Order: sequence, then C-alpha cells, then structure tokens
Amino acid sequence: MVMADEIKCSCGCELNPKIFYVDEFQIRGSECPKCGKTYLNGEDVARYAENRKGINVSDRVVC
Ligand SMILES: [Zn+2]
Repeated sequence: MVMADEIKCSCGCELNPKIFYVDEFQIRGSECPKCGKTYLNGEDVARYAENRKGINVSDRVVC
C-alpha cells in the first residue's frame, strides 16, 4: 500500500502533510499546495469508518 505522505498529487506537485479532523476524529493525510486536492491515510480512514459505520468516505480517499 502506498502511504499518503509518500505520494505526489496527480498534478505532479509535492504534497504537504496535514492532519484532518472529521467529527473530531484525527485522520492523517496530505494536501496539494497547488490544486488543493487532499489525500487521506487509508489506515486512518479505515479506523474512522469502523467508528462511523454507514458514512461513505470513499469519495475522499485515494489508495
Ligand atoms: Zn495537485
């Protein structure tokens, strides 16, 4: 699995590591400083989904 902080944005820009808070749940990820696209850590999203069953977060996940 490719970790979110080791990938580049689809626009080719280096990603900045960032912590996202969704319903007070901490999710590690990265944000592109150029186009603003966000990439979330798949492991953290899986943990979030475990705690928040029924919420679809797949549209924000790039694995
Ligand atoms: Zn980008």
